[in-house]
Amino acid sequence: MSSKRVCINPGHSGSDPGNMAGGIEEEDINYEIGLFESAALKRSGVIVEGTRGSETKFASKQAEFDHIVAVSNDCNALTSIHDDAAGASAQGISVLYKSSEDKVLATHIYAELVSLTPWADRGLVQRNDLGVLNQTKPPAVIIETDYKTNAAARKLMVDPVWQKKVGEAIAKGTCAFLGVKYIAPSAPLVISAKPNRSVSYSSAYVRLNPNVHSRVTSTVHKGDTLTAIPGGTDLWARTTIGYILRSRVKEI
Ligand SMILES: [Zn+2]
Repeated sequence: MSSKRVCINPGHSGSDPGNMAGGIEEEDINYEIGLFESAALKRSGVIVEGTRGSETKFASKQAEFDHIVAVSNDCNALTSIHDDAAGASAQGISVLYKSSEDKVLATHIYAELVSLTPWADRGLVQRNDLGVLNQTKPPAVIIETDYKTNAAARKLMVDPVWQKKVGEAIAKGTCAFLGVKYIAPSAPLVISAKPNRSVSYSSAYVRLNPNVHSRVTSTVHKGDTLTAIPGGTDLWARTTIGYILRSRVKEI
C-alpha cells in the first residue's frame, strides 16, 4: 500500500446538479466516473478521499468549497470531475489547471484521456477563476470529460463502459503523477446483454445510482420483471429503471 492519498471531487450535487442535457444531470455522470476512478486508485494501493455521496446537499457553494478544502487538505492530488455544456456541435475532452504543479498532473491525466474522445484535441487550459483550483492546497485539476450538449458525445457519456474508461484513465494519469504503479483491472467490464430480473423480495427499492444512499426512483414488488441493461456492479444490477441490489432479484 502506498501512502499516497487522492481526493476525488465528482462535480455538483444535490440542489446544484450541474448542467442538464438530454434529461441527464451532470452530477450523476460525474459521480459514476468518480466511482470507477476510486476503484482503480484503490486497486493500485492509493488511499481515496471522496467529497460527496450520490446526493449530498451543501448549504451553499462556499460550504461545498470549504468541505472540498477540508477533505483534500492532506491529499497528494485532487481530481475534480465535470462535463461541459455549450452548443450542439461542441465536443472534446479538456483538463483545466492553475499552477505549474497542477499542470504536471493535468499533463499526465490528459495523456491517458486523449484517446477516449473521437473528436477534437482540446488539451490543457489554464484557468485562474475557478474555486476548486483557487481554494484547495494539493495539486488540482478539473477534468471536463466532454460536451453533454452534443448528442453524439452524450450517447458515449451515458455508457458505463466509457465512464469506466474515463475513470481508469484519470486514475492511471494520477498514479503516474504520484509515482505509483497503476494496476489495470483484471477483467474488462461486461457489456453483453444480461438476463432480465424478477423481484424476489416482497418489495425493493430501485435507485438512481448503485449506492444505498442514492435517490429511490421507484419501488418494485415480488414477481415484477425488470429489464437488465449493461452496467451495474458486483452488488447492484442495472436495469432500465435504475439500480437494484442483486440480492433482491433473480435472473430470468
Ligand atoms: Zn460542472
